[in-house]
Amino acid sequence: MELKKVAEALRHKHYEVHVAEDSEEARAIVKDLLKGVKSIGKGGSQTLRQSGIWDDLLYYDSLEGDDRIELFSTTSYKAKGLDPDIALRKGMTADAYICSVNSMSEDGTIYNVDGIGNRVGAIIYGPRKVIFVVGRNKIHRTKEEAWDHLRNVICPKHCITNKKPNPCVKVGRCVDCSLETMECKVTSKLSYALPNREYIVVLVNEDLGY
Ligand code: SF4
Repeated sequence: MELKKVAEALRHKHYEVHVAEDSEEARAIVKDLLKGVKSIGKGGSQTLRQSGIWDDLLYYDSLEGDDRIELFSTTSYKAKGLDPDIALRKGMTADAYICSVNSMSEDGTIYNVDGIGNRVGAIIYGPRKVIFVVGRNKIHRTKEEAWDHLRNVICPKHCITNKKPNPCVKVGRCVDCSLETMECKVTSKLSYALPNREYIVVLVNEDLGY
């Protein structure tokens, strides 16, 4: 797949798009995008960890004075002995929000699934600046393939990661359970960038996350 073509499709949908050859370039792009940002919310993301952007966010949070970018993350709040729910709530009104996507199609349709709703909520009507960092492996040829990957690969993996022994973990695909422990209670399909916000996609020519 040509990332340049995906970038064009996303621009047509009113996203600002950057293409990075690797994680190092993505980190530099994100650093630049965060100029002037004083606080940031973050969705749980293997992509941010694997790319090194998570470490950068921790570093920015550790700075003092005008250089600091306060990070609202459940992981860092727990590490500081703070209530992680406050991080989720503050992340909704931060200057910016950063996360990956769960899957997207080459035409620029973005899918995200959530067990609580904080990430989907922040993306749809949270911070005015939303940055998606997307490895090439998250991009599927068609909407149908992106959706199938979301339901049958991403959701079961979320259940495994969060230690929820739902049926999909055993079966290896979604069986439409309705258990209280579902990690897929809300799914968003972003067809276009929403108005009056900055939606920025950093496409990375590397496999990142799952
Ligand atoms: S609906 Fe149930 S079976 Fe399907 S992915 Fe979600 S938790 Fe798994």
